[in-house]
Formats: sequence, C-alpha cells, structure tokens
Amino acid sequence: MEQHSLILPQDVHNQTLVNNVHPASWKNPEPAPSYNLVVIGAGTAGLVTAAGAAGLGAKVALIERHLMGGDCLNVGCVPSKGLIRASRAAHEVKTAGEFGITCGGGSSIDFGKAMERMRRIRAGISFHDSVERFSKELGIDVFLGQGKFIDADTIEVDGKRIRFKKAAICTGARAAAPPVPGMEETGYLTNENVFRLTELPKRLLVIGGGPIGCELSQAFARMGSEVTIIEMAGRLLLREDADAAGIVQQSMLRDGVKFALNAKILNARRRVADKVITIEQNGKSQELAGDEVLVGAGRAPNVNGLGLEAAGIVYDLRTGVKVNDMLRTSNPRVYAAGDICFPYKFTHTADALARILIANALFKGRQKTSSLVVPWCMYTDPEVAHVGMYEKDAREKGFEVTTLTVQLADVDRALLDGETEGFARVHLKKGSDKILGATIVARHAGEMINELSLAITEGLGLSSIGKTIHPYPTQAEAIKKLADAYNRTRLTPFVKKLFTAWLKWQRS
Ligand SMILES: Cc1cc2nc3c(=O)[nH]c(=O)nc-3n(C[C@H](O)[C@H](O)[C@H](O)COP(=O)(O)OP(=O)(O)OC[C@H]3O[C@@H](n4cnc5c(N)ncnc54)[C@H](O)[C@@H]3O)c2cc1C
Repeated sequence: MEQHSLILPQDVHNQTLVNNVHPASWKNPEPAPSYNLVVIGAGTAGLVTAAGAAGLGAKVALIERHLMGGDCLNVGCVPSKGLIRASRAAHEVKTAGEFGITCGGGSSIDFGKAMERMRRIRAGISFHDSVERFSKELGIDVFLGQGKFIDADTIEVDGKRIRFKKAAICTGARAAAPPVPGMEETGYLTNENVFRLTELPKRLLVIGGGPIGCELSQAFARMGSEVTIIEMAGRLLLREDADAAGIVQQSMLRDGVKFALNAKILNARRRVADKVITIEQNGKSQELAGDEVLVGAGRAPNVNGLGLEAAGIVYDLRTGVKVNDMLRTSNPRVYAAGDICFPYKFTHTADALARILIANALFKGRQKTSSLVVPWCMYTDPEVAHVGMYEKDAREKGFEVTTLTVQLADVDRALLDGETEGFARVHLKKGSDKILGATIVARHAGEMINELSLAITEGLGLSSIGKTIHPYPTQAEAIKKLADAYNRTRLTPFVKKLFTAWLKWQRS
C-alpha cells in the first residue's frame, strides 16, 4: 500500500488527515451475516452512497483501500483549489498597481507556507469523511483494505468475506500513465503526488492542456515556476468553445506560461540535474527541459484487482465499469457510481449519481442518469463554466439554435473589478426562450452558472431570468443582460410598429 508516501510531508496536518481518513489503529469489524449494501471505494461517490443508504436505515459496509475522501479530499479538488487560492493572492499582489496600490518591496512568495495552509485546511475538512464519523456517527461498518469480488454476491477484504444483497462499485479513477518511452524511468508527478511538494519546481513541464493541466499550470506559474504546457492538439481545453479557451490561454500567457501546441512527445529522459522531454512540432524535434514533469493527460478507471470477472461485471479498461442508464452493471445486484463509470468526472456528478444509485438499488427506483443536467467549472483565472449543450451538440441533436453572448466588458461590475475578459453565452432553441446550454467565462463563473443550471433543470426559459431582479452591480448581471438581449429579439419591426402606433394614439 502506498499509504505512507501519500501523506508526505509527515507534518501535524497530514497526521490529522491520516488519523481521520486511514487511522493506523483501525481494526476492521467482523462482517455482519448480510448487508443491504456493500460499497467499494470511499471517495465522494462511495461516501454519499454509504451515508445516504445508512441514513435511510440500510445495513451498510464501506470498503476503502487507501484514504477515505478519495481523490477530491486528498489529491484533487481540495488541495488544487487551496493552491489556486494562494496563487491568486500572489497575482493580486503582482497586479495591485492597476488599482493604485503599491506593495512594499518586501513582497515575496513562500510556496512552502502556501502548501502548508492547504494541508491545514484539508486536514480540517477531513473529519467529515473520516472513519470515525462513518463508523460511529453513521453506523456504517468501515473496512480498510482492498475490496475484491469473489463471486456474484460476495466481496473479500482483509481476509474477511462480506455477503451482500446489493453492492456499489465506487472505485474512481487515477491519472492515466502517458505512453511515452522513458517516462517511467524519468519519473513524473501526477495529482497523486504533486500536492506533496514543499518546494516550488523552478521549471515545470506540464503534459496536457485540459482542465487539470491548465488549472495547475496557471497556479504554479503564478507561484513563480517557469511553466510550459505540452499539448498534442492545436489549442487548450478542447471541450470548451474556442473563444473561451482562447481567453484562458491569453491570461496564462500573461502569467508567463509557455505553450508547445500540436506537439507529439517522442521520449523523456533524466539528466543529472533535470528532466528532458523531446517533442516534435511541424516535423521538427525539440528538447524541453524542466526540474519536474507533471502529467495531467486523462484519467484511467480503477478496475484492476476488483475481481470484476468473478462477479460477472462487464468493464472496459478505458471507460470503466459498464452501467445502464440506471447505473446497474451486468450483474443485477451490483451498481456503480462516480468516475469509475461516468464520462463527466466531477465530485458533484459523483454525488448526484450516488443519490440515483441509492434510489435504484435499494428502492426499485428507475431514476436515469440521462436526465441529469450537469454543470462544470474549470478553476483557471478567469474560470470557464458550462452547462447543457454546446452549439454543435444542439445542432447535431436537430435543434435550430439562437446563440446570444454578452461580453463582460459591457458589465459595470466587471469593469470596476478589472475583470472584463470573458463573456456569458446561452444557446436557445430558435424561436423560443428555452435554454439548451450556456457557457460563462468570468472570474467567478462557477458561482454564476448555477442560475442557468436551475433554469435548465426546471425548464425555466430565459424570460424568467429576465423577470428576476439582479442586484446592481454584480457580474451576474451579464446573465440578466442575456435575457434582455433575448427580449429585444422579440421586438420585431411589426411589433415595434404596433407599439409606436399605440403610443402615438395615447399622445393624441
Ligand atoms: C487535480 C484534480 C482536481 C479536481 N478538481 C475538481 C473540482 O474542482 N471539482 C470537481 O467537481 N471535481 C474535481 N476533480 C474530480 C474529482 O476529484 C473526482 O471526480 C471525484 O473525486 C470522483 O469521486 P469518486 O468517488 O468517483 O472517485 P474517487 O474520489 O477516486 O474515490 C475512489 C476511491 O475508491 C478507492 N478504491 C479504488 N479501488 C478500490 C478497491 N478495490 N478497494 C477499496 N477501495 C478502492 C480509492 O482508493 C478511492 O479512495 C478533480 C480531480 C483532480 C485529479
């Protein structure tokens, strides 16, 4: 078990974390004769499934081989957003001159302190996901160890056999290893070990220009690293609209990030003092050197060692456990939720799927994942948040689309904040105010997207947002302005003529 290496450095904060999420003194209980639900994996999906089921009266066992809280708490959302916050502070100081503020000559960045702050906050959050809370407060039988199916209704952990009526596979995903010659020998960081750093790498090569690569590249650059992103596509953030990705790229350029786009990685090697990656761009090869290499290029599902074959559960090494729309696997007793089975790999989707799993597995529900409205946000500066369909998806689904965009440069609060790079965009079903999808690029886009997610979820049209008073001045007024723009499209020349005639008559 990699337990010891994952909790580096061994300071008081990480000791608290481990005491909560994998206490060394923990003794696994004797299994009950039978469980309503056995959950493998105690990341977000597993924790929400186990807690929700136990809260409704089910007898639940929860198995975790590593750290309760999974990726989100330990090596994902929480530490990354902690580091990002510190990097924003550094950026604020650097750019304070725009606001007439001169920071004293003594301003400096202490990466070690920023990481310690992150570890302190992570440790503070960790009780919520702890063995103690789940066992004592929620009454769940917690087993620490590798869970493995040995037949269609039995799981083995720590030499003990656990019989289940229903089981949930919530084993998540990990960073996919890049198929690059020499990479293993060279050594590289992933999300699993990058948050152990206590010293800033002077030069950082980042493989992958997706959300994880971009968030961490910008954060490290703002903390003072010389960062180069190596990306095989011609631009960053392929899933997002090109102009949204372009704004983020420009912002990162200003932070000093360099980009090697359209780059094929040929090999990696370690030199005495640093690491070298050879890339090919436009038929020419080039060497890039760094003190560390960080890989953020895709996620691989944790299917290995689970004994899925023994339980008749179909899976794919790339996409994970196969489930139907109601999260049932090919074994009717076994369900799955979270990164192990879902293409949208987020904490909030893991949470949403867990709720569906409980209803369907324990209460014969028929809730479908296809009915979910899934927003997401990428926490660069500015943030990029999206919900629903992109214009291309909507057209492919046969919709005629009207797209409206309001630039943040037209929103007073964004001007006052000095945060004018970005926009709010909605795609409407043509001839109606039905919202098909939306993208927001703004410093707090993740906070702003919720209004649009609610509208899509509840079938509220953009006119409903238009009727909603938004406080002035807020950046969310960009969304109100989209509604105003929609209302203007309804003012056809004919309607305007009627209004003009009516008003003229009123004056007579
Ligand atoms: C750097 C980074 C930043 C991120 N930031 C965000 C963000 O800001 N917002 C967001 O929504 N999402 C973010 N994510 C994604 C988010 O962390 C995941 O989507 C979420 O953790 C998925 O939860 P899960 O329960 O499906 O899987 P996981 O959190 O991976 O949990 C799975 C658990 O199963 C355990 N396990 C695996 N196999 C076994 C076994 N055989 N027996 C016992 N236990 C087992 C693992 O040890 C793990 O604890 C980020 C991810 C990364 C890597």
